[in-house]
Amino acid sequence: MYFSKKITDLAAEAEKALFDRFAEIDAVSFTNTEKIMNSFKEHRVSETMFAPSSGYGYDDRGRETLDKIWADVMGAESAFVRHSIVNGTQALTIGLFGLLRPGDIMFSIAGKPYDTLDEVIGNTGKAGDGSLKDFGVEYMQSDLKDDGSFDLDRIKSVLEEHKEKIKVVFIQRSKGYLNRKTLSIAQIAEATKFVKSISPASYVVVDNCYGEFTETAEPTAFGADMIIGSLIKNPGGGMAETGGYIAGSARAVELASYRLTSVGVGCEVGATLGQTKSMFKGLFYAPHTTAQAIKTAHLAAYMFNALGFEVEPAWNEPRYDIIQTVKTGSPEKLCAFCRGIQAGSPIDSFVVPEPWAMPGYSDKVIMAAGAFTQGASIELSADGPLRPPYTVFFQGGLTYESGRIGIMSAAEEMIKLI
Ligand SMILES: *Cc1c(COP(=O)(O)O)cnc(C)c1O
Repeated sequence: MYFSKKITDLAAEAEKALFDRFAEIDAVSFTNTEKIMNSFKEHRVSETMFAPSSGYGYDDRGRETLDKIWADVMGAESAFVRHSIVNGTQALTIGLFGLLRPGDIMFSIAGKPYDTLDEVIGNTGKAGDGSLKDFGVEYMQSDLKDDGSFDLDRIKSVLEEHKEKIKVVFIQRSKGYLNRKTLSIAQIAEATKFVKSISPASYVVVDNCYGEFTETAEPTAFGADMIIGSLIKNPGGGMAETGGYIAGSARAVELASYRLTSVGVGCEVGATLGQTKSMFKGLFYAPHTTAQAIKTAHLAAYMFNALGFEVEPAWNEPRYDIIQTVKTGSPEKLCAFCRGIQAGSPIDSFVVPEPWAMPGYSDKVIMAAGAFTQGASIELSADGPLRPPYTVFFQGGLTYESGRIGIMSAAEEMIKLI
């Protein structure tokens, strides 16, 4: 791989500027790793727990122990983590359908939820397909204010008017692909307290995707009733092959478990088919891998800002998820960026990404991903729609070293066009 003096020097300069920040990121990773190792020790994790189960999967000690550890680590009463949950969207669907009943309201207080939930909620899609709306669940929303904070006045008035019906108050932690700031644990904790002070019976449910282990506690440690996420993002540590999780209060998780399998059956079954070891190992790695991804994002923010691009978050801002954006300014530069990321990936480095008309999107989209696990966004990956201002969203980096190579490769492609 060829790196020019300009880019090599810029990466070195960035690392000097980021020295203290990197030390803080390592400290968060240490605290989270310590928490995980303490839980492994307390639950006497042993190799025998990695044995696969088949059929019903009754008495699978590995599965049962991992659920308990997951609850501990998330600061929750209860949890389940399953390779059989196909993605984050399904985990969210299990949680929402587990809690909501006909006549209930789902109230999203951090603006519009992630795109894939539109059809689950029934805001888009065909009537009759089985969305929450089809089952008589109503949806309400309060947007974040321009400064990224919760609109407490609106939340208060909606809760006071509808609290008998608002079963779920929904918060998406990460900005996802929206143009807003990611919420910190402190903000989520405050909002949770506020909601509970007005409507104690509502379940606070947090879409935790991309947020896990970026700080030293999860929303469940501050009163959230349920957090939900995907194992091919932060908490799978780049090791889990696939899967999702739900953690929270005992009753909320029990209700979700009845939706996962059957009412009355819940978490007592589920063959692990040999996936247990990679899930344990993934959790063990997760704080470290998340730290690698955050460092990669900081490095990119510094370098692309120095090259004259608008970036979000800024290189010296704290981060509460692993997503970084760069406004590339032109379709050529957006494509160049993605070509560079692809060429700097461990897998499929020889492939040249092209924009394509993806089903469900109004503009063409370009994507770069050279990952060991298909679609894993804890691995360095980038995408962006071909429309002004040609913003690229990217995240991940299994190791800081490989993330650094990917970012330097993207920068090389970009400076050819400056
Ligand atoms: C990734 C993600 C999801 C779920 O997406 P899947 O592709 O189904 O795993 C939901 N919400 C947010 C904020 C996400 O980042």
